[in-house]
Amino acid sequence: MPLVDALGRPLRSLRVSVTDRCNLRCEYCMPEQEYVWLSRDDLLHFEELSRLVDVFVGLGVDKIRLTGGEPLLRRNLPQLVELLARKPLQDLALTTNAMLLDEFAAPLKRAGLRRLNISLDTLQPARFLQLTRQNDHERVMRGIDAASRLFSGIKLDAVIMRGVNDDELEALLAYGASIGAEVRFIEYMDVGGATRWTSETVVPRREMVERLTARFGAVTAIEEPGSTAPADRYALPDGRLFGIISSTTEPFCRDCDRARMTADGVFFTCLYATEGFSLREALRRGEAPEAIAALIAQRWIARRDRGAEERFEIHDRTAYIPLATLREHPHLEMHKRGG
Ligand code: SAM
Repeated sequence: MPLVDALGRPLRSLRVSVTDRCNLRCEYCMPEQEYVWLSRDDLLHFEELSRLVDVFVGLGVDKIRLTGGEPLLRRNLPQLVELLARKPLQDLALTTNAMLLDEFAAPLKRAGLRRLNISLDTLQPARFLQLTRQNDHERVMRGIDAASRLFSGIKLDAVIMRGVNDDELEALLAYGASIGAEVRFIEYMDVGGATRWTSETVVPRREMVERLTARFGAVTAIEEPGSTAPADRYALPDGRLFGIISSTTEPFCRDCDRARMTADGVFFTCLYATEGFSLREALRRGEAPEAIAALIAQRWIARRDRGAEERFEIHDRTAYIPLATLREHPHLEMHKRGG
């Protein structure tokens, strides 16, 4: 029997953040000059992480995504992938900004990584610098190129912001097609870390579909009954597929089967949750796997989170968490709990 929460949602998917460090400073995620970092001693060792993943698998998780921060900054990441690839999982994926993919695509493939999601918000080097504060667009494109020769089914994720990169929908779709990747447009979310968020900057899903329809002709929504994937998928008249993740204007909490764990082992049941629970502490005080499973199950069974939907119900919303609160409680940051 799958573990089901108070709203009937099973626990199927776990996003594991392996580091809170990042080599980009994206405007919508890490816009500040200074951050409070996790202490090295608190980071889960790979063997600890693997034991916790076993517990989650025992509770029904069969999809794991490694994220961060930038997961490729975690030293020896392919070793972790190798450990996880031996587990009975339906999916083992990684989300990356591709800065280090040129070097890591092959070792990750050898280690047994199945799928890659690559974040790419712009095809313009000058805009990339503006958005990320790093002059590394060429390096990212090299990384994507290396990965696309080794991995099939790559997803290219672009956060679309009005007045920033919303003129690149077509160009991103064309680039995706050129490397055999499916592009997903993500609505700008007011998650922790997005301290500059404004509703005016969000480009709603409906508007993106309208714009693409005006450009290409009728865009067809693809029915995927039973899918819990965050993206709704569409087909262009020429058959090209793309996705839209509309967490801001059409949230989909009712389908959410995702739990999250930070690099220091704090378990969260929602991207918007303000309270987490430290599995690292339970593990390091020597709790047995069965006891840790009971701690997780207790929290999942009580889960009523509908973070994105509750934010949607607020009119005149501004950034979710004030900067001073993020400084005091860094686990509220998106780059701690993983996107
Ligand atoms: N560094 C990796 C990367 O860039 O893919 C993994 C971590 S990053 C936090 C994961 C995803 O979250 C990225 O696709 C990023 O664009 C997305 N993200 C971060 N902040 C966001 C926001 N405010 N709204 C929408 N998506 C966001």
